[in-house]
Amino acid sequence: MSTDEDRVRLARQLGRLPVRELVDVLRRVLPQHAEDGNGMRTTLVLATATVYEQEPAGIDVTLVAWPDRDHYDDGPGPEQGLWEDGRCARCDVEVSSNAKRAYCPVCNTRCTLT
Ligand SMILES: [Zn+2]
Repeated sequence: MSTDEDRVRLARQLGRLPVRELVDVLRRVLPQHAEDGNGMRTTLVLATATVYEQEPAGIDVTLVAWPDRDHYDDGPGPEQGLWEDGRCARCDVEVSSNAKRAYCPVCNTRCTLT
C-alpha cells in the first residue's frame, strides 16, 4: 500500500525521465497487470494517440513496442522520441517505439520498425 504522497513523488520521478527511460520502466510494470479468463487475456499497455485536426480529422492510436534490450546492449534503445513505426506481424496491431527493433506489447513478437 502506498500513500498519496508516495504516488505523487513517484509520478514526479517518472515525469523527469526521457521517454525511452519511461518506456523502459513501464515495460517492467504494465505487463504485471494482465488478467486471464474466459478465453481472454487483458493486459495494460502504453499507447500514443495522435490527433489530426485537419480534414479528415481523426485519431490514430498506436501501441508502444518495447525496445529489444538485447539488441541495444541491455539498454533502453536509441535516445529519440517514439518515431519508429510498424505493425506486429502476429496480431496486426500498429506499434511505435524509440527503437527499430522492438517487441509487441500484446504478444511479445519481435517487430521491425522503420
Ligand atoms: Zn503482437
